[in-house]
Amino acid sequence: MINKSKILEIINKQKEFFNNGNTLNINFRLEQLKILRKAVIEFQPQIFDALDKDLNKSNFESYETEVGLILDEIRFCIKHLKKWAKPKKVKTSLVNQPGKSSIYYEPYGISLIISPWNYPFQLLISPLIGAISAGNCTILKPSELAENTSIIIKQMISKIFNDEYITVIEGGIEINKFLLEQQWDFIFFTGSIQVGKIVMSACSKYLTPFILELGGKNPTIVTNNANLDIAAKKITWGKFINAGQTCNAPDYLLVHKSVKLKLINYLKKYITEFYGKNPLDSIDYPKIINKNHFERLSNLMKKGNIIFGGYLDQEKNKISPTLLDNITLNDPIMKEEIFGPLLPIIEFQNIEDIFNIIKNNPNPLCFYLFTNNKKIEKEIVKRLKAGGCTINDTIMHIVGPYIPFGGINTSGIGRYHGKASFKAFSNQKGILKKFNFFDNPLRYPPYKDKLKYLKWFLK
Ligand code: NAD
Repeated sequence: MINKSKILEIINKQKEFFNNGNTLNINFRLEQLKILRKAVIEFQPQIFDALDKDLNKSNFESYETEVGLILDEIRFCIKHLKKWAKPKKVKTSLVNQPGKSSIYYEPYGISLIISPWNYPFQLLISPLIGAISAGNCTILKPSELAENTSIIIKQMISKIFNDEYITVIEGGIEINKFLLEQQWDFIFFTGSIQVGKIVMSACSKYLTPFILELGGKNPTIVTNNANLDIAAKKITWGKFINAGQTCNAPDYLLVHKSVKLKLINYLKKYITEFYGKNPLDSIDYPKIINKNHFERLSNLMKKGNIIFGGYLDQEKNKISPTLLDNITLNDPIMKEEIFGPLLPIIEFQNIEDIFNIIKNNPNPLCFYLFTNNKKIEKEIVKRLKAGGCTINDTIMHIVGPYIPFGGINTSGIGRYHGKASFKAFSNQKGILKKFNFFDNPLRYPPYKDKLKYLKWFLK
């Protein structure tokens, strides 16, 4: 394991590399993005293998949710970076005439990116794309819980980049604590609310700008006039992909009383269709990351009625897709983010019930709504505060570079993906350039009766 003095040495080397202006050239950044893209393609078999070992992910799911997303994000950034990085002209107010105004995007400097274990490749490399695009040097800290992926990322990054530009520092909580004690120009953290608070307080020491991508309980609402067949198919996919270990997975279901039974039947049908009669044996169904989470999830299943699934394989660390009925809001499963393949089903009768239930776990990372009623759609979108939402599907609002992704309050602070990633890692420096051919005398003393003119400018 890396020692602390080596870490300090790397940070100092990165400061020097950055301060020498090496990352300011846009062509340099484009070149690094191309190198990264080539390496991801080259390392794809090893990445698949590591994700299989860490989470039993199928190659399809690994490409769909990790490697493919990264390749697409890099391609998009390469295409648009020159345009994004140009100083953006903005209007100049009357008081500042004659002059011109612009926003200049400059890199923060040395950034630290810390990631979780659930999408261990994507959630480390996706912010890195933003860091490179914006011209930062970066230290990457992968999750120690997805240890095989952590090793491969380290191999890949050290093959293509020098320590003084981008490097991976592996390790557990102790290393992370030490990293957080250092002075950074920017910190990007993805993980739990609890550790998010530790990161935020570390940022307060040097007033370091940061982004926090956290978790939460994402409600999934199905109204009485929704297309239940399609709703069930999309909920099943979004909930059980990565065995429910997804920050924006549907956490619990709120279904109108009149369609509850029908929806449950469709859910059962799709679980069986996707993962077979015995999902614990399905090669397409991932495992739970470790024993602690396996135990935590097993305990959450103890309240309410298991109406489907509920099978455990201790040896393989697998829990089958499980539907739970007769859940109360006081049950442990409704008090914390589930982050596993358990779906509590709660019924509602009118729209106010929805808001009353959700207010027990406010500010989710996202919510999902299945309805054909435009009025209900409008009201829920207007009244439910969340990081984002998908209507008539699950997960998909985070896919693609056009919708900035992030949470609100406890589910996160700040956004990224596509251009938002470039902006996330950039300081937006406001620039006003004055022309000297006219200098309005109004602001200079003595003021005498100038106030009435000032009021004309500033009203
Ligand atoms: P975590 O917060 O336990 O760990 C994240 C990182 O923080 C890891 O690299 C870990 O080494 C480090 N860490 C852990 N404890 C620490 C401590 N006491 N001090 C300093 N560093 C510490 O999160 P996790 O279990 O890896 O991931 C699951 C959580 O991440 C869930 O809450 C999930 O919702 C959230 N998540 C959010 C997003 C998002 O994009 N919003 C994506 C994935 C996961």
